[in-house]
Amino acid sequence: MKLQVVWFKRDLRWEDHAPLAAAVATGQPVVALLLHEPSLWGQPVYSNRHGCFEYESAAELHATRPLLGSSVTVAGRPTAPDTETLGRETSSDAAEGRETRSDAAEGRRHLPFFYLAAEATEAFEALEAFAGIPIGSVFSHQEIGIETSFARDRHMQKWFTERGISWHESPYGSVRRGLKRRDDWNAHWNEVMFKEPLMQANWALGQAWKPSAEWIDWAHAHQVERPAREAGVAQSGGAAWGHRYLQSFVAGGRGRGYMAHISKPESARNHCSRLSPYLAWGNLSLKQVVRNLAETRSGELLSTRDARAFASRLRWREHFIQKFESESRIEFEHVNRGYNQQMFNTNSTHLNAWKQGQTGVPMVDACMRSLNETGYLNFRMRAMLVSFGCHALNLHWKDLSAHLAQQFLDFEPGIHYPQLQMQAAVTGVNTVRIYNPVKQAEEQDPHGAFIERWVPELTPLPMPFRAAPWMLTEIDCVGYGIQFGTDYPAPLVDLTKALRDARIRLYGAKKRPEVRAEKNRILEMHVGTQRTKRT
Ligand SMILES: Cc1cc2nc3c(=O)[nH]c(=O)nc-3n(C[C@H](O)[C@H](O)[C@H](O)COP(=O)(O)OP(=O)(O)OC[C@H]3O[C@@H](n4cnc5c(N)ncnc54)[C@H](O)[C@@H]3O)c2cc1C
Repeated sequence: MKLQVVWFKRDLRWEDHAPLAAAVATGQPVVALLLHEPSLWGQPVYSNRHGCFEYESAAELHATRPLLGSSVTVAGRPTAPDTETLGRETSSDAAEGRETRSDAAEGRRHLPFFYLAAEATEAFEALEAFAGIPIGSVFSHQEIGIETSFARDRHMQKWFTERGISWHESPYGSVRRGLKRRDDWNAHWNEVMFKEPLMQANWALGQAWKPSAEWIDWAHAHQVERPAREAGVAQSGGAAWGHRYLQSFVAGGRGRGYMAHISKPESARNHCSRLSPYLAWGNLSLKQVVRNLAETRSGELLSTRDARAFASRLRWREHFIQKFESESRIEFEHVNRGYNQQMFNTNSTHLNAWKQGQTGVPMVDACMRSLNETGYLNFRMRAMLVSFGCHALNLHWKDLSAHLAQQFLDFEPGIHYPQLQMQAAVTGVNTVRIYNPVKQAEEQDPHGAFIERWVPELTPLPMPFRAAPWMLTEIDCVGYGIQFGTDYPAPLVDLTKALRDARIRLYGAKKRPEVRAEKNRILEMHVGTQRTKRT
């Protein structure tokens, strides 16, 4: 008998989970681990709100552990998730792996699941010492993460090999490790999403490992502490929540008018799917979402146009993650090395004002404040925040990166870095998009309601002054009872001039021979012979 370990990464679900299915199919004792590694969580891209989402997901995993050796009980979809209760159960119970509902008489036991604050080597060393039987194999998904997690994986690969433990890594969706050319990428995506079965474990075949007293003591000492929940962040972690968001969008009417609302910061919160954190933390697999859409598309609740637009975004998701997998240096460097000589501002006053939503440009400040408070912002407004930081203020995208990553509840390295660079116009491949925040306010928030909600100090002003208060004369300000620089900051830059300068700078740079040479290399690597709208 050898112990089979399922190592959860960013795939926090029981359903459609290839590593879990493979481990259970061995018929050998199985244990599941989720590690909250201090070296990873200490990186500046992670924040308390991510920790909370992970904790809630872990609590749900614990509360819904499958019964192994049973053909009747399936795991994965609790109803009526109450994250408060789930969380309490975890803190008292999960680290101990206590069997609460097992039916030993009939040979059924819950799959032991441990959520531990420990480095990977530390946890596997303890398991090796206290398991009572040798570790045979470890099963996990390939992690398309930041350099810290990739370095940990390289280290663990060596560690497992030295001990004769085999590590089986399943691909992350359609993403292929180290892919250098994209020629059959679309066909491969279709194959994975529509032809491969959902990877459901056969619980009846499984055998649960019985944790030793030493391991339980060790696990107890490494319990993850429950992080405090931020009041403004509405989305809770867990597959049950993910399925609710999915159902209410695809079949519940929330997705009606998806494309009409997608760029509007207020209504996008309801009419977009809001599935991104559930996909980023793996509460749902992309395949589950794609299949659900294909099966339930009715043409009534989600129009054909909206369903198509949503489906393309689901495809873009792994298109971007594949880019990052193929060229992960872009966590630190421009994808297009032709921009290496480009000069950027390092004005920390501007950077801090941008982070805090105090730039003096209302639409920018409203978007940043809403993101900082709630963890969500729609695509267009994310792009506008980056455009303002990188173009109007000429800050380096790297200076914006960690703050945005911390604030986005759905932080996904494989989308974050390519998107950040695309919006910062350092790819040399994509159309340069310089968003004018005043125009965005006129188009996407015509009555100024979103600005009013997040920048209440401008409430006395009507549109269009609410979006561009610098247009007011001094006497107008007195009339509206607003004092610039006191009630609301004056703009950091003259917007018209700053955007004009950016246009000259960016279009000039795009023509440079070194940028064009790199453009061809990038197209060859990330597009190949494929043609998609999103390159
Ligand atoms: C600078 C910047 C950083 C971003 N960082 C992230 C990130 O860390 N994590 C993340 O999930 N998305 C990121 N996005 C993409 C996009 O903004 C979000 O996926 C989307 O707003 C999430 O809301 P939703 O789930 O309601 O999306 P919907 O419009 O309902 O789309 C459904 C799903 O498709 C995928 N998707 C949608 N738009 C894109 C896109 N442009 N590129 C790739 N996949 C897409 C997401 O998984 C999303 O959940 C970023 C965009 C920008 C401009």
